[in-house]
Amino acid sequence: MEKLIEELMIKSINDDLMKLFIELEGTYGNECGFTKEELYATYKVSGIAKIRGYKREFIVVSPRELNLEEKCNARIWGGNVPRVVFNERTDSWEYGSQCSRNKKSGEKYCGIHLRSLPHGDINEEPPHRHFESHKKIDLKICHS
Ligand SMILES: [Zn+2]
Repeated sequence: MEKLIEELMIKSINDDLMKLFIELEGTYGNECGFTKEELYATYKVSGIAKIRGYKREFIVVSPRELNLEEKCNARIWGGNVPRVVFNERTDSWEYGSQCSRNKKSGEKYCGIHLRSLPHGDINEEPPHRHFESHKKIDLKICHS
């Protein structure tokens, strides 16, 4: 039954596409050098399984909160699995978290991170590629 419905849907989609291609050929075919048959051969739909499976569920997370004034500006790994999230608002990946310790007076970092900065500064790109393997395409921060 489902197979039959799928075949009917594909036929219906392709019939509509052919109507569109007939229009396109009539308007642009000579000028641009294509026929409706060529368009159909390239763009016809042969199955809807891919279309149906395309929907991906996203988990929306909050943007990383930074306190650059008071807290150490070091990036930390932050647990067994680091926080690595794509931020659509800034069109960039957020790697790790900000160190939660207070800055040493007059410095950018806390005492520990003044000595060593293994994951770099939170305002800059990480100095290594170790966050890359933790990129998750189903977690993101959305526009709003
Ligand atoms: Zn620190």
